[in-house]
Amino acid sequence: MPEKITIRDGNLSVPDNPIICLLKGDGTGPEIVDTAVSVIDRAVAKAYDGRRKLHWLELPAGLNSLEAGGELLPAATLAAIRDHVIALKGPMTTPVGEGFRSVNVTLRQQLDLYACVRPVKHFDSVPSPICAPQKLDIVIFRENTEDVYTGIEYAADSKEAESLMHCLHDLGADVRIDSAVGIKPISRFGSKRLIRRAVEYALAHGRRRITFMHKGNIMKFTEGAFRNWGYEVAREMLGERMVTLDEVGDEREPPAGKILVQDKIADAMFQDLLLRPHWHEVIATTNLNGDYLSDAAAAQVGGLGMAPGANIGDDAAVFEATHGSAPHYAGQDKVNPSSVILSGVLMLEHLGWKEAGALIMQAIQETIQNETVTYDLARQITGATTVRCSEFGKLIEEAIARG
Ligand code: NAD
Repeated sequence: MPEKITIRDGNLSVPDNPIICLLKGDGTGPEIVDTAVSVIDRAVAKAYDGRRKLHWLELPAGLNSLEAGGELLPAATLAAIRDHVIALKGPMTTPVGEGFRSVNVTLRQQLDLYACVRPVKHFDSVPSPICAPQKLDIVIFRENTEDVYTGIEYAADSKEAESLMHCLHDLGADVRIDSAVGIKPISRFGSKRLIRRAVEYALAHGRRRITFMHKGNIMKFTEGAFRNWGYEVAREMLGERMVTLDEVGDEREPPAGKILVQDKIADAMFQDLLLRPHWHEVIATTNLNGDYLSDAAAAQVGGLGMAPGANIGDDAAVFEATHGSAPHYAGQDKVNPSSVILSGVLMLEHLGWKEAGALIMQAIQETIQNETVTYDLARQITGATTVRCSEFGKLIEEAIARG
C-alpha cells in the first residue's frame, strides 16, 4: 500500500512504499523524466529485492498544464507537494523579458525551499574542457528565496520606479530618474538558515572546507552581511573545530579533525574554480552568485546535462535537473537524462536509500566508460556511439541489473 512520507522534528519518516510527487515539466522534461523514473525504479527494485518501491504521483504544472486548460502552477499541485513532502521535477520553460514569472522560482518560494544544493563532481571518461576535472569536488549551497530573485523589480518610467527614485533621492542617493530598479534583500534569517544547512552537510559528510562566496567588497550591507553571518553561524556550530585561513598553510590544508572556514569574493571564486578547485568543498552563497557558480562548475565536469540539483526546505524538497527545458530538442528523444537521473540519486540519498543511489552512480559510470552516450557527450568523445535518451536509460538499467 502506498504511504505518505512525513516529517517529525525535522526528521523524515520514510515508509517502504512512499508516494513521490512527479512534475514532468515541458520541452524535453517529459522524456528525460520518464527515462529517469524507469532507471530509479529499476535501481530500487534491485537494491531492496522488491521490498521497497516508489509510487509516483504525477501532478500538473508548467506549460503543459496551461496548454491542457489548467493553470501554470495549480494550487492543488502545491498542496500535494506540501502533503507528500518529496517531489522529482523536470525543467519548465519561462519566457525571457515578458510573460509569466518562472514556475520554477515560484515553486521554490511558495514551498520555502530555501537551500538549492548542487553537488559537482567529475565522472571518469566524461569529456571536460579543463586538464584536471577530477580536482573539482564541491557542493554548492545557494540561497533560493532572496536576493534579486524576489521579483521586486520596477520598469523604467513606471510610477513605482519614480516613487522609489524620490525615496532614494531623499536618502541622499543619486540615481538617474529614468532607471529601472530591482531590489536585493538579503536577510539575517534567510542567510543563516542556508548557512546552517551547509555547515550541517559538511559535518555529516566529513567535508573539511567551507567557503562563503560573496561580493561584499562592493555590496557591503547585503553580500558583506552574508559573509559575516556565515562566520557567526560557523563559530556557533563548529566551536573549537573551526580554523580560519591564518591557521592553515598556503595549501589550505586544515589540521586533522578541524574544518577550515574561509570566504572568497565572487570574482576570485571563479578563478579558484579553474586554478585551485581543491581549495573548496562546501560553498555557501547568495542566490545570484550561486546561479552563476553552479553552471560554471557544471561546465567543468561535462556540462549541465550531468549536474544534479535539489531544492530543500524544512517542510518539503524538490529534486530537479539543473538545466532548462531545452525546447529546441523537445520530442526528439535526444538529450542527456543524466542530470535528472542524478537528481534522483540525491533524492534517494535524502530518503536514506543510499544503496539504490550507489547502484545508479556505478551504472552511469559504467555506461559512460563504454562510450555509449547521448549526443552532447558523444560529440566530445572520439569514436563514441551516440544513443538516444531512452536508449541511454536502458543501458544504465542493464548495468544496474548486472551490478
Ligand atoms: P537549457 O538548459 O534549456 O538549454 C541550453 C542548451 O544546453 C540547450 O540548447 C542544449 O544544447 C543544452 N542542454 C540543456 N539540457 C541538456 C541535456 N539534458 N542534454 C544535453 N544538452 C542539454 O537553457 P535555456 O535554453 O537557457 O532555457 C530554456 C528554457 O528552460 C527557458 O525557458 C528557461 O527559463 C528554462 N529553464 C528552466 C529551468 C528549470 O526548470 N529549473 C532551469 C533553467 C532554465
